Amino acid sequence: MSDKHILILGAGVSGLSTGVLLLKEGFNVHIWAKDLPPNTTSNIAAAFWYPYLCNPKDKATEWSGFTLRYLKQNALNDPNSGCITRSVTEVFDKKVGEPWWANAVESYSRPTQDKLPDGYIDAYQTEAILMDTTIYMDWLLSLYKQLGGTLEQKELKSVDEALAGNPIVINCTGLGSRELFNDERVYPVRGQVVLVKPNGFEEVIADDEGHNNLTVIIPRLNDIVLGGTAQPNNWSLEIDPKDTEDILRKAKLLSSAFNEVDVIGQKVGLRPARDEVRLELEKFGDKTVVHNYGHGGAGYTLSWGCANNVVQLVKELQ
Ligand SMILES: Cc1cc2nc3c(=O)[nH]c(=O)nc-3n(C[C@H](O)[C@H](O)[C@H](O)COP(=O)(O)OP(=O)(O)OC[C@H]3O[C@@H](n4cnc5c(N)ncnc54)[C@H](O)[C@@H]3O)c2cc1C
Repeated sequence: MSDKHILILGAGVSGLSTGVLLLKEGFNVHIWAKDLPPNTTSNIAAAFWYPYLCNPKDKATEWSGFTLRYLKQNALNDPNSGCITRSVTEVFDKKVGEPWWANAVESYSRPTQDKLPDGYIDAYQTEAILMDTTIYMDWLLSLYKQLGGTLEQKELKSVDEALAGNPIVINCTGLGSRELFNDERVYPVRGQVVLVKPNGFEEVIADDEGHNNLTVIIPRLNDIVLGGTAQPNNWSLEIDPKDTEDILRKAKLLSSAFNEVDVIGQKVGLRPARDEVRLELEKFGDKTVVHNYGHGGAGYTLSWGCANNVVQLVKELQ
């Protein structure tokens, strides 16, 4: 195989975004993935742009800023992408400093207490992008295929299977890297969400650090996602009725628009968390693996920035 041939492991948002950018640079790309969309963790996310549960902060700011600009230029103007602009507000029940991700956005504001739900005294607000995953993942997959990318369902038990015949392998297996690359630094943070019928509420609002954490309301195009949970090292993919009850109770505390809801679904996913995103080269003899995993609660938010970083590393190998 030539160095222009790249094998990507994983078909979530990280694998597909990386594939798209590599194809645009003229590489031939093939994906192997244990699960294909719509059966990936990425399909369970809501998802809105916000650098949540991800590190290191300096790189996450750079990657998320790149992603926001990329989405504005390449997805927002495409009606098939499932992307729309949404106001995103994170509320706090204590005074806070400036957001660590401030340089990723063009602007943000600090709403005053009278604009916030009862019990909150401070907030960050910015205009961000919602990627409705029920539409966005299909759009991303078709973009990947239109550009000539191919994919097949295949579970790897060892990285040697990928290295045989492929000089460059990109690892976007998320939580799968725990076994495939013996990386115990990547661990699950369980997220359960409840889907309700649209009720006219149109802003994303979240409490991640306050007395109702984690509560998040994410109005999408055809439903509203109410979250959620962030339970480290909980591997359960079962719906927990206690979590459902908590989610519905806490949504009401952020907005009375959710005093009555029409529940239409529930989902659970395991965020691939890590103390920091792993985006680096690893040599296996004369073969190279470029890692791109461990995006925690921000896989969409970091997706195009990380993909672009992978492309830079691959080009340096040429
Ligand atoms: C409830 C919930 C809400 C979320 N909301 C948001 C949000 O609003 N904004 C945001 O930015 N992020 C959000 N996230 C986080 C986001 O979903 C993840 O960070 C992101 O999906 C990770 O994408 P990934 O492509 O790296 O991994 P995944 O989507 O997990 O994809 C991994 C791929 O690797 C494959 N794979 C794994 N092991 C192997 C193997 N051994 N062999 C072959 N293939 C393998 C899998 O089958 C899959 O195809 C949310 C997550 C959850 C659970």
